[in-house]
Amino acid sequence: MRITRITAWQVDLPLHEGSYKWSGGKSVAVFDSTVVAVETDAGITGFGEVCPLGPAYLPAYAAGVRAGLKELAPELLGEDPTQLGKLNRVMDAALKGHPYVKSAVDVACWDILGKQAGVPVCVLLGGRFGDDFHLYRAISQESPDEMAARVASYRAEGYRRFQLKVGGDPDTDIQRIKAVTAVLQPGDRLIADANTGWLPHEAARVVRAVRDVDVYIEQPCLTYEECLSVRRRTDHPFVLDEVIDGIDVLIRAHGDGAMDVVNLKISKLGGLTKTKQLRDLCITLGIAMTLEDSWGGDIVTAAIAHLAHSTPTEFLFTATDFNSYVTRSIAEGAPKRKTGRLAASVLPGLGITPKFAEFGSPAVDVQ
Ligand code: MG
Repeated sequence: MRITRITAWQVDLPLHEGSYKWSGGKSVAVFDSTVVAVETDAGITGFGEVCPLGPAYLPAYAAGVRAGLKELAPELLGEDPTQLGKLNRVMDAALKGHPYVKSAVDVACWDILGKQAGVPVCVLLGGRFGDDFHLYRAISQESPDEMAARVASYRAEGYRRFQLKVGGDPDTDIQRIKAVTAVLQPGDRLIADANTGWLPHEAARVVRAVRDVDVYIEQPCLTYEECLSVRRRTDHPFVLDEVIDGIDVLIRAHGDGAMDVVNLKISKLGGLTKTKQLRDLCITLGIAMTLEDSWGGDIVTAAIAHLAHSTPTEFLFTATDFNSYVTRSIAEGAPKRKTGRLAASVLPGLGITPKFAEFGSPAVDVQ
């Protein structure tokens, strides 16, 4: 099988809550996503999506996806999309770095492989564990009372895991954690995600002030070394996210005992092929995971669902259903949350069909 055409469309994804806010005053009102189609000479087409969390979160930006695809796609024509290790070697040789540009192509090729084999992607990724899996709800950074009200509201919809966007003023963040804790019930899990927003002295104050609260601390500071220094002065369970961008740092962090849980984002690592490599290593090393992406719509959510559903239940700390955050559906067949839980499609491949009629002209068309 050979790749004959790669096409990409820009799509806007507005938010039910109007905007999403996190550390350092960063926010996004309408997400800029890119849907990718990889066509083949076998008549099978695979689909992927990539959606950076704005331009100031990771070294990734929405227009960069399309610019990068224009550079990369000509090098992929004629390649076999079902030989994913080889395809990733070709992508890495053609374009150094820029994992987020490669992510949607890699996901689309897993979709092709699944369609060719007649099995869902989750089966190819290792097998389906359980009937469904836990989701978390990210709580946009607002006042402590507003965040507590949001948690209570999402709890009523069935979520049991909540990730608070902190990483702002430490005194307000302490109030945020305590206000939300007051509306939780036994069995709920709370994660305070600073998204690199605290300096070490601020993180030290927060972890001390919430010492008696059952809360996970996620990525308090910008650098690995700063996070490690905070880790060493707290006994809260600890999550690393932004700094875990490859296998080298994962191995180093495991050796240092730097975290209990890691957050693996598909586009941060360059697609399902590379995320599976880290996911499987985490299982061997005994590290639980949040499996997700930076942001996205129906197609990103489908890819997350296959990755999460193919992960042993005890290692899946939590996952994300981004398609329930946005007002627009971009694909038929996408997984839909039920009482805070999600399941991957049982159809071959990702099990989704993009709504191309609504997309307009492609931004990238290489054939
Ligand atoms: Mg995070």
